[in-house]
Amino acid sequence: MGESKVILVTGGSGLVGRAFQEVVATEEKRPDETWIFLSSKDGDLCDAEETKAIFDKHKPTHVIHLAALVGGLFKNLKYNLDFWRMNTKINDNVLHSCHLSKVKKCVSCLSTCIFPDKTTYPIDETMVHNGPPHSSNFGYAYSKRMIDVQNNVVPTNVYGKHDNFNLEDSHVLPGLIHKVYLAEKEGKPLVVWGTGSPRRQFIYSKDLARLMIWVMREYNEADPIILSVGEDDELSIKEAAELVVEGMGFTGKLEYDTSKSDGQFKKTASNAKLMKYRPDFKFTDPKIAIKETCQWFLSNYETCRK
Ligand code: NDP
Repeated sequence: MGESKVILVTGGSGLVGRAFQEVVATEEKRPDETWIFLSSKDGDLCDAEETKAIFDKHKPTHVIHLAALVGGLFKNLKYNLDFWRMNTKINDNVLHSCHLSKVKKCVSCLSTCIFPDKTTYPIDETMVHNGPPHSSNFGYAYSKRMIDVQNNVVPTNVYGKHDNFNLEDSHVLPGLIHKVYLAEKEGKPLVVWGTGSPRRQFIYSKDLARLMIWVMREYNEADPIILSVGEDDELSIKEAAELVVEGMGFTGKLEYDTSKSDGQFKKTASNAKLMKYRPDFKFTDPKIAIKETCQWFLSNYETCRK
């Protein structure tokens, strides 16, 4: 057993944070690790003093930095400037506090949507700064690029329990789950925004939590690592919608509103580096993970974020 760790998780109440809570309470529980999960109620990480006070109180040895202003395509398009300002403040405060309180390791999240728009595929870890990001999310992307100086992971599209299921501001999968719910209730067709042809790599939040815990414990390179399913496991939005339809047991028709933006056509990332380290890692079958997410949404409809 190594030295005991105090691990502070910022954004511990969000989609990824809640998956961490579930995984460390069960399969990844260790006696030498104390985990502290923060939400915005513990302090505003946009505020330098409040951030410092949190670090002084908990004295973490390790930090998993998840807190961010996060949203799907349509929220990014609407609030590009807010995305830049809020995330830049949060990241600067958290990383500076890590430095001041001599945190041994901080694992923070980039995202595959921050990579250049015009690029060759698959995207890999060396290409973060090789050109402007897609215009739909340049605020978020530029802010995130600025934290590419420490020990970072790069997840693709995350989904799972405790996601934000808001119809306009959410990512594509939780948005679809909510739309299917309403279409079923109202006896109407499911209207998918865009053509359905863009492609995405989706990662279940529990798989991401498992991999980030491994990064915190074992991965010691300063360079980032992409945490993603393989290139062959990329799904079109149409395929993802069909899995949601199946997961929700929806019986109505599916239509596409092609007047709505598709966003970036694809951002296929290579997980070759991850697979070199973790050839044993098995991603949850999306059919099962999407079904679990749909069931969770149905059971928690009244209280979930939407
Ligand atoms: P969520 O939106 O689900 O959660 C965001 C978390 O950040 C919440 O715990 C929220 O607290 C906290 N937070 C937000 N603003 C502040 C603030 N000013 N002060 C303190 N806490 C704050 O995000 P996800 O779990 O989806 O994302 C986690 C990380 O993963 C982020 O860094 C994101 O950029 C990255 N990522 C996410 C992807 C995705 O598809 N979801 C894809 C790639 C990367 P509260 O609950 O109290 O509001």
